Amino acid sequence: MSNPFFEDWNTPYGIPPFDRIQNEHYLEAFERGFAEQNVEIDRITQNQAPANFTNTIEALERSGALLAKTGMVFSNLSSSDTNDSLQAIELALAPKYAAHEGRLLNNQALFERVKQVYSSLPEADLDADQVKLCEDAYTRFVRAGAALEEQARDQVMALDETLAELQTQFSQNLLKDTNEFELVIDATEDIAGLSQTTLQAAKAEAQQRGKTNSYVFTVSRSSITPLLQFADSRELREKMYRAYIRNGANDNANNNQPLVSQIATLRLQRAQLLGYSSHAHYMLDDRMAKNPANVSELLGQIWQPTQKKVAQEAQDLQTMIQERGDNFELAPWDWWYYTEKLRSERYALDEDQIKPYFKLENVRDGAFDVAHRLFGLTFELVNDVPVYHPDVLSYQVKDADGSLIGLFLVDYFMRPTKQGGAWMSEFRAQSNLDASVRPIVVNCCNFPKSTPCLLTMDEVRILFHEFGHGLHGLLSQVRYESQSGTNVKQDFVELPSQIMEHWATEPSVLRNYARHVDTGETIPDVLIDKLLAADTFNQGFATTEYLAASYLDMAWSGLEAPTMLGVDEFEAKAMAAINLIDVVGPRYNSGYFQHIFAEDNYSAGYYAYIWAEVLDADGFEAFKENGIFDPATALSFRQNVLERGGTAEAMGLYQAFRGRAPAVEPLLRKRGLLTTSST
Ligand SMILES: [Zn+2]
Repeated sequence: MSNPFFEDWNTPYGIPPFDRIQNEHYLEAFERGFAEQNVEIDRITQNQAPANFTNTIEALERSGALLAKTGMVFSNLSSSDTNDSLQAIELALAPKYAAHEGRLLNNQALFERVKQVYSSLPEADLDADQVKLCEDAYTRFVRAGAALEEQARDQVMALDETLAELQTQFSQNLLKDTNEFELVIDATEDIAGLSQTTLQAAKAEAQQRGKTNSYVFTVSRSSITPLLQFADSRELREKMYRAYIRNGANDNANNNQPLVSQIATLRLQRAQLLGYSSHAHYMLDDRMAKNPANVSELLGQIWQPTQKKVAQEAQDLQTMIQERGDNFELAPWDWWYYTEKLRSERYALDEDQIKPYFKLENVRDGAFDVAHRLFGLTFELVNDVPVYHPDVLSYQVKDADGSLIGLFLVDYFMRPTKQGGAWMSEFRAQSNLDASVRPIVVNCCNFPKSTPCLLTMDEVRILFHEFGHGLHGLLSQVRYESQSGTNVKQDFVELPSQIMEHWATEPSVLRNYARHVDTGETIPDVLIDKLLAADTFNQGFATTEYLAASYLDMAWSGLEAPTMLGVDEFEAKAMAAINLIDVVGPRYNSGYFQHIFAEDNYSAGYYAYIWAEVLDADGFEAFKENGIFDPATALSFRQNVLERGGTAEAMGLYQAFRGRAPAVEPLLRKRGLLTTSST
């Protein structure tokens, strides 16, 4: 039987012919895809004509079409509908893919030509998106070490390998240390305050570990949180808290502290070989934030008001302790416990009261309606399209003038063959190089399947969030595929998704889509008020622990010379530098800071969550100033952000939309960090 990846697809919308694609087609298509791209690259490097944009940069962009076509189907299905055979292919493929990529970026003849085009950019007559394409190609090679002398390049590669090993070791140690720790509570101890559900889970954990008549708590978040929130025994809370902050830093074989120092030192060495003064400079050069100074400035603007807010929250908790007749000073292990008491006093909200207003279909149509009111888009269900699973629905998306935008697939339900979490992806990306290629975008979520399917408020936000990424892919209007849609810097990609969450909770929008599943009645205002009021509660604490971890990340990544300090001293010094309040610790200490030590990608990058939130809060403020469905504001957001993908610097795109650089005040207001009252 012929391999469908080797044919043009004459399906509706050119969607992959899922009914004909068999597992055995993938490896064959990948092998041919690698070979084809190698031939295409040889053709570029062996070209006798001098290097120019068309014969080098654009030719490189055009190369690897079969690989991309196969890769998109494969990566989507191995995330959303996998099986043993796909998983085996995934394992076999990973090293081949890495080797192919490595060969390409280490191809000196290719790099020479890219460099020639890059060097002649000032004299070249190119459009802005072409200049960006060339700069990005050049940077990609340089960041992989292509511009270095052979010896230095070998050193970088050796450092990459060692770092990969150390980072894996970090993860494995942490997993072991987490599994080995147990807080055993026997019959003599005080378990008052803990719920039946919590105790049942702790009992099951104990039984699994062969312990009868006792409860076992671990240092996993799901175990710690209920104990810290509800255990009346202060002694238990203290034990749990102390165990948590030493995770991965205990005096045993799993201790990650030596690895942390080593990783920081080797990253510094690699950055300096590549011409950067620190690991943070190296990482941030490839992000919207650009450099550590910009990150510091942003964190500093949020840190100041946060310190005031968290001190006030600490005062509120201390007052509560006093009022209950307990005569002690608030300690870190008391925070969750008294906060829960305050929360239930102020914002008691019953999930079962809320859920009937959030039927999946209503929420989905609510999101479609927001896109209609903002951009004039219409979503029409189409049934003649092959899909990879019966749960998938396909929508034809049209613009206000009736022209086809693309195809939008929704795959909302949980199943064993699907990865956890929620994401947006594509089966085909938009481009406009030789012909207009329309995107095929998919939103995947993991809502428990039931009829009716009622969502929690978090799930409603997730649906709108992924829909925002979906619009970024759908509304893309770029020439080159590698610049389309969500192919933007890591600290910019969450703007379209997070901004969409704001519409989900706007009262006027809620009144439109949040209708009772049985009666069709609109959600009452008193419920809306309760839903929204809880948003700013305890945000001084949440922001403090998050920012403290971001500062710790920047302290390690920003080293410009190896540190002589031990990890404990290093952490203490970094926290002293920001005057961290002593009843709140950073969300992660180094020993269990997976984001930054288990892989490169999020190192010097933990700040990105709040960076993106600054953008979405400030961006939505533009809509609030002019009306949340103001056509001119929507058009500006569409034309300056959603349509532009990675064709220009992210900060420039944002400023073109907003008319100025992002400001932090909207985020501070949203998190309730600007208020001085104690409510
Ligand atoms: Zn996202």
